[in-house]
Amino acid sequence: MKVTLQAILAQADQQGYAVPAFNAYNTETVMGVMQAAQEAKAPVIFQMYSRLFDGPLASLVAPAILEAMQQLDTPAAFHLDHGAGIPAVLRALRYGATGVMIDASALPLEENIAATAQAVELCSACGVPVEGELGHVGTTKDNVMGEYTKADEAARFVKETGVSALAVLVGTAHGHYQQAPVLDIDRIAAIKAATGIPLVLHGGSGVPDEQLQASVGAGIRKVNFGTDVCCSFLDSVFGVSREIIALDLFMREPVQAVKEFALEKIRLLGAENRG
Ligand SMILES: [Zn+2]
Repeated sequence: MKVTLQAILAQADQQGYAVPAFNAYNTETVMGVMQAAQEAKAPVIFQMYSRLFDGPLASLVAPAILEAMQQLDTPAAFHLDHGAGIPAVLRALRYGATGVMIDASALPLEENIAATAQAVELCSACGVPVEGELGHVGTTKDNVMGEYTKADEAARFVKETGVSALAVLVGTAHGHYQQAPVLDIDRIAAIKAATGIPLVLHGGSGVPDEQLQASVGAGIRKVNFGTDVCCSFLDSVFGVSREIIALDLFMREPVQAVKEFALEKIRLLGAENRG
């Protein structure tokens, strides 16, 4: 069933688990995530990266996501991932997103607050909650990590922007880790205490299980998985026999691979049977 980002995270916050947010790129990734949510009776977030909203793909994949949400008996949200600005936010709203991330984290604090507050005001007109980011979560290819999110700044950011969820920099990055990351769990707990809202962990792919669970214990309520959705799909595609020609049959195994990956993360984050 279709719900907003705020609704899906509010229940996670009350019950102390995290909702996995899986990036969707095509119908097959939507199917894999949907089947996992159905089987595990779990709430789930489908999200699409900002770039996908810029091209023709969104007009085809977004309806598939909305249809999957309708078919699911469990709560599901559709989220814009790393909205680069107001045009990206508007496109996501047009395609039916029930949550929006505005990422102005590369800007100085004052400008980040201003840009995020503008997105919150815009989205509030149609009842869509916003995720902001404070502390820039970079990529695993960066030489140095940015400055971690500070609890006092996070409290001010949340108060002045009105965001419903906050992405924080506490040791993760986007992409394939060369070395397993070490998350600052105490910092997550401090930010959670200072802000009181659901916190979001980006770069969930490749984070060791026990650290993901500790981060949930400290207040993370949404964990993003992009890289490993792609990898589970692609590893399977390259392993399928070339003797299978019909694409629907060829895609059965990749869909199953995405489903199994999603199921594993749903269980790890404590989201199973929370639907
Ligand atoms: Zn991210």
